[in-house]
Amino acid sequence: MMDANQAFEAVRAGWDDSILEGTWITPCEVEAFRRVKGAYGLLIALEHAVVLNIRKLKTACVEPGLYLYVGSAYGAGGIGARLARHFKADKAIHWHVDRLTVEASRLAAFVWPDGQECTLVNHLLKTGVYEVAVAGFGSSDCQSCPSHLLTVQAHTKK
Ligand SMILES: [Zn+2]
Repeated sequence: MMDANQAFEAVRAGWDDSILEGTWITPCEVEAFRRVKGAYGLLIALEHAVVLNIRKLKTACVEPGLYLYVGSAYGAGGIGARLARHFKADKAIHWHVDRLTVEASRLAAFVWPDGQECTLVNHLLKTGVYEVAVAGFGSSDCQSCPSHLLTVQAHTKK
């Protein structure tokens, strides 16, 4: 049986870099991506269930497991500034994903310079490895995706 850490490493190892021309980075590497615009995937390991407490979403709670949140940063701070915030445990809750990152046992990020977040979501859903975790999560501004929070199915099924 894979534990959360093994599953986490397996997702990163099994990631198909050939289609998405990006790279996995650790929290120590975010500075290199300051002012770099593009999309990112944030891998989130949850060891316990998290109550979302978001009124607009039908799903009230997220089970323990592995999740991938997909976003983009096209502002001045770029992907580096955005990820620095995601990696920070102590912050005011502003976005949907903040409720997960403050509870995560592990976080890692895939950065895709010049990438589009919805392209990344659609690609991942097509692989069959990823499924919608919470409908509408993080995709309030998005017309095309069912969600920007995916479950990593292949690695979290017991
Ligand atoms: Zn989208």
